[in-house]
Amino acid sequence: MDTRKVYIETYGCQMNLADTELIVGLLKPHGYEPTQVAAQADVILLNTCAIREHAEERVLRRLGELVRHKTRRPGVLLGLTGCMAQHHRESLLDKAPFLDLVLGPDAYRHLPALLVQEDKDEPLVSVRLDRDETYADITPARGEGVRAWVTVMRGCDKFCTFCIVPYVRGRERSVSLAALLAQVRELAAQGYKEVVYLGQTVNAYRDGDHDFADLLWRTAEVEGIERIRFTSPHPADMSERIIAAMATCPKVASYLHLPLQAASNRVLEQMERGYTVEQYATLVERLRAAVPGIALSTDIIVGFPGEEESDFRATYDFMAEIRYDSAFMFKYSAREGTKAYKWGETLSEEEKGRRLQEIIALQERISAEINRQTIGQTVEVLIEGPAKRQEGWLAGKSGQFKTVVFPSTGAQPGEVMPVRVVSATAHTLVGEARL
Ligand code: SF4
Repeated sequence: MDTRKVYIETYGCQMNLADTELIVGLLKPHGYEPTQVAAQADVILLNTCAIREHAEERVLRRLGELVRHKTRRPGVLLGLTGCMAQHHRESLLDKAPFLDLVLGPDAYRHLPALLVQEDKDEPLVSVRLDRDETYADITPARGEGVRAWVTVMRGCDKFCTFCIVPYVRGRERSVSLAALLAQVRELAAQGYKEVVYLGQTVNAYRDGDHDFADLLWRTAEVEGIERIRFTSPHPADMSERIIAAMATCPKVASYLHLPLQAASNRVLEQMERGYTVEQYATLVERLRAAVPGIALSTDIIVGFPGEEESDFRATYDFMAEIRYDSAFMFKYSAREGTKAYKWGETLSEEEKGRRLQEIIALQERISAEINRQTIGQTVEVLIEGPAKRQEGWLAGKSGQFKTVVFPSTGAQPGEVMPVRVVSATAHTLVGEARL
């Protein structure tokens, strides 16, 4: 079999990165090898995201650049996969008529067959959502490293009014517990030390009577796996059993990304998030009581349609009270096809920008304060490799999922070692190894 090369650029969230590994895993048995160089590729794919408008604009600009490979080397195929392909399936071919392939997130399985189709004069479009597709039988082509991403469920049933995900990724469905555990055992045998379970609402995972707590408990039994993490859980699905699993499995990271979005009940209701600020606050209390020292991060959207200054202040005050370790903060941007789209925008870009800057400044201060409190403490670091910015230093993650850098001791990626924190910024702990 001739080897052909596939070049993939990935946009958006961790689930998309995991899908890129899946696409490469699907193509490898058909004679394709990944390449980092577009100029050498027979197939060029952009695996895209539809969450934010600017990501889409970037993708269209990038397609305009990549089309030169088709012009220079006839036979090269250029395709778009992922959420943007699903979302804009109709208009995409008008905007980028040179595309050969448009594939939604449930259509990757067809990719090898589509690539060998004789008639490539017409673009090949496959965007049917499939309620049963979990790709459970496909082995993703993972990169080297200590961490493996494992998609445990796909899709979402929540339909938050601002979000396009349920429309482009379809409804919730989970991979079986047995298939996941087999995959994790295989990963441990290959030398991976950390598994990160992925799902749009990962804690809604279900396989018959088994829930996400069962998955955590059973994964913790796999020898060789040192750490277990997951993202993103939905607050409304954060059951007592899951909290108990987090509290009783030392391998489960002492860290949780718990999306809040806003801390005004009026806005949360408009967003149809399925919880109140009070319920969320109680959940944080229960988590902190069950898992002492747990690090928390969150997602915040400012400028949702109808967000008054008082709603924004409530979010600001709540963030100041909860004191997250970190936060992903965004300005609202209307996505066509969602319920909130028809409400339009009620705030100017300037006002949204002002609100965003306020919470970013608040969070930077809090993150730095929390990290400085760890100075003098010793943290267990799972080493990932050389630090990016300092030669001769190593980088890894603490049990609270904080980036830690320290002068190299000669330790290897995958080793866990105690590191004493000597200084800290809002984003990094700087330490020295305790030998
Ligand atoms: S829970 Fe809400 S925000 Fe998250 S993916 Fe589902 S619809 Fe989107």
